[in-house]
Amino acid sequence: MKKNIYDITKEELNLSPTFRAKQVFHWLYQKGVKSFKEMKNLPKSLKEELEKNYTISPLETIKVEKSKDGSKKYLFKLQDNHTIEAVLLPMKKEERDKEGKIVKEARYTVCVSTQVGCKVGCAFCLTAKGGFVRNLTPGEIVGQLLAIKEDNNIPANRRVNIVYMGMGEPLDNLENLAKAIKIFSDPDGLNISPRRQTVSTSGLAPKIKKLGEMNLGVLLAISLHAVDDKLRERLMPINKAYNIESVIKAVKEFPIDQRKRVMFEYLVIKDVNDDLKSAKKLVKLLNGIKAKVNLIYFNPYPNSPFQRPSEEKVREFQRYLLDKGILCTVRESKGLDISAACGQLKERESGSSIQKL
Ligand code: SAH
Ligand code: SF4
Repeated sequence: MKKNIYDITKEELNLSPTFRAKQVFHWLYQKGVKSFKEMKNLPKSLKEELEKNYTISPLETIKVEKSKDGSKKYLFKLQDNHTIEAVLLPMKKEERDKEGKIVKEARYTVCVSTQVGCKVGCAFCLTAKGGFVRNLTPGEIVGQLLAIKEDNNIPANRRVNIVYMGMGEPLDNLENLAKAIKIFSDPDGLNISPRRQTVSTSGLAPKIKKLGEMNLGVLLAISLHAVDDKLRERLMPINKAYNIESVIKAVKEFPIDQRKRVMFEYLVIKDVNDDLKSAKKLVKLLNGIKAKVNLIYFNPYPNSPFQRPSEEKVREFQRYLLDKGILCTVRESKGLDISAACGQLKERESGSSIQKL
């Protein structure tokens, strides 16, 4: 059976002379062609060989929702009809001078999925509700960004950050994730430095270690959400297998660029973990780690077991951390009106109990 060429790293293409592989990558990722015929500088025999072995299979976009703040949520259909989602988050608008010339380019972050569903089963997460279906292939991960760049006319060389924070647990699909990271960062392709790619995990300690050993150069984000094991177990059953201490240990051993920080995501849930006692414990826990904390408002959905915290509580929590010298941001409710938290668009599309907004 033919393979999707988006699944393949340049090394795996294994063409000789090697500059042929570079040319193929250039056509696929910089020019965005969708057929081998268009690869004009390749010899006919090579085009035929590629045609024989590979398909070029982009993702099919079935729905786009635009939020007031400019973020866009995409629902994609895979070859086997399963659906996944990704989000485009504009971070900075482009700036032009009086003549209309661009003086600062727009910045984007794209949030991509790594699995259909998820095995981890966090109590607050909509993706978890559908259970686990399957891993995404490297090409399905790469395809999300390709489709989004194309739809928004984002030039090939424009800086884009990638966060693996969509549906699924990236480290539960480590092999395909690693390939996607390599394809994204290939200088002949999209050329997105690994330092612009952040892998977010619920805390699979042994896999954090493995990812570190692969030395890919990516950044790490830990979905912590709770500072004591009892509560974390209730929110994230994975904590029974890998408790907070084991996650912190894995983070401390993770190789990271000295100028960069490990991000700790803390989902703030009303009356569950939004108190200053938790903030205090968090400060202790992060002692000795070059960390930054990202507070996220819990995003409720119909029949969700938790509630959104008050802005006052979140700000108070943030102030406490800042006072203690810990870098801390609050994730603005980007895309809240398009239900940007993981799994929520898919859930509505598949016509479950979730009502139309
Ligand atoms: N599985 C990985 C990455 C995907 S989840 C992980 O858990 O890190 C990405 C983020 O979405 C996680 O930080 C998760 O806590 C957050 N999330 C899940 N459900 C949410 C909700 N209802 N509101 C806000 N954020 C949510
Ligand atoms: Fe999976 Fe992340 Fe959702 Fe937990 S929060 S169920 S790990 S996708």
